[in-house]
Amino acid sequence: MNDLGIHALVWAGDTSQPSVERIIQSTKATGYDLVEFSLHDGFQADPLAAATSISAAGLKVACSRGLSPHADVSSEDSKVVQKGLDLIVSSIDTTAALGGQTLTGALYGAFGKASSSLTTKGRANIVASLKEAAQVAESAGVRLGLEVCNRYETNVINTAADALLLADDIGADNVFIHLDAYHMNIEETDLSRPVHLVGDRLGYVHIGENHRGYLGSGHIDFASFFRALADINYTGPITFESFSSAVVMRSLSNDLAIWRNLWEDGQALASHALSTMRNFVEAAPAT
Ligand code: MN
Repeated sequence: MNDLGIHALVWAGDTSQPSVERIIQSTKATGYDLVEFSLHDGFQADPLAAATSISAAGLKVACSRGLSPHADVSSEDSKVVQKGLDLIVSSIDTTAALGGQTLTGALYGAFGKASSSLTTKGRANIVASLKEAAQVAESAGVRLGLEVCNRYETNVINTAADALLLADDIGADNVFIHLDAYHMNIEETDLSRPVHLVGDRLGYVHIGENHRGYLGSGHIDFASFFRALADINYTGPITFESFSSAVVMRSLSNDLAIWRNLWEDGQALASHALSTMRNFVEAAPAT
């Protein structure tokens, strides 16, 4: 059975000590195995205290983030590239301090709609930076994910095929592919082929509806997605990601274009998502 996770932004929009405690306790009480923290605004609480709570709750932890226009390894400006690498390295440190082994997201570039295509030099800077980051991560016991994001959030990798080429060029064993049903719905031909294409290089999965609200209230064919995950014997984490203007992390919510109120009650949403994902995981191999 896969570890089933939930993004912390379902519970709280910040990472202050009280919010982090509430996030951990709510994740545990609802029955999830894993909590994912966005490091998009940094991590405000003491990571070592949080690590103690996470461990005491018997939870696993993962971290995610995108880069920013001022700290972006896909830039042509070497100073901006260096700041991007620094941001990844400090995020690796935070992930390890929290007791996590997974840092994922748009580690290859700034989040948000790009105004032009990725350049050859920009791509070379990504490859060089992530080769270095992968070495730092290796010594910290952390693996790095390349989350495939849609065209409005990145110009670097929009499809699983793009991500595999980038991972090949980085050439590090601790770099994996991260697929997200929400982004796949926009960019891929369907939800099965990319999973089969990535195969055993798939290391993390986000489950999100096409509008990022309640699972089952949109049109994503989760049955075929979970069947494809079963086809490749995927045993890694599957994390529910949902956003509403009811819970806001200033920069992340703006970068992800979360303008609508898709739900008010994070607890009801989280309970529903867990049972939905469990049902799909249990049913997938038999269908
Ligand atoms: Mn995602």
